[in-house]
Amino acid sequence: MLPTHALSGMLVALPVALAVPELSALALVAGFCGGVVPDLDMYAGHRKTLHYPVYYPVGAVVAGLAAVVVPSPLAVGAAAALAGAALHSVADVFGSGLELRPWEGRSRRAVYDHYHGRWLVPRRLVRYDGAPEDLALAVLAALPLSFVAGSRLLALVAGTLAVAAVYAGVRRRLASVAERLVAALPPWTTPYLPPRYAAARTSRAPREGDGR
Ligand SMILES: [Zn+2]
Repeated sequence: MLPTHALSGMLVALPVALAVPELSALALVAGFCGGVVPDLDMYAGHRKTLHYPVYYPVGAVVAGLAAVVVPSPLAVGAAAALAGAALHSVADVFGSGLELRPWEGRSRRAVYDHYHGRWLVPRRLVRYDGAPEDLALAVLAALPLSFVAGSRLLALVAGTLAVAAVYAGVRRRLASVAERLVAALPPWTTPYLPPRYAAARTSRAPREGDGR
């Protein structure tokens, strides 16, 4: 889920805090942004438009090497942002597929691999975004961050973790809420809806597990 990606991106600040402590705050914010940016494609080619599971890691390694040679704010910030985006894009492969109810495990699409020109299959080590194991990962990431984040950035870490906790609590209900909202839209909007929402237009009986 997005908060877990944001916290994972911020983890880049840990090695920076050891090597160049004065740039750790920059790395934390850049890692946060890098962890969030891929999901800005949520409603426009989700997990394809801004997800690059091959190119982001390559860019992160190149930028990371540059930052080691010349640890300037620009180099460290770019490396942290790319590392955050890389962690996000690769981590999505180990989650669920691209579907409204990912816990049903029907989708074969996790993340689009632009380099190989195909969708990567979801591994489902984390069953769905907002699952208890997803929240556990967010907590694990937030713990070490609390030691390197200053007083102001600690609020960013804590706030992100709070969003993760709330999202985990309501995640399964959100699918039904989204379906009701989509059903209330006028028919002409269907071509503009992401496929996972457009498919929800077809009426269906409530399924076991909804709303839990
Ligand atoms: Zn994503």
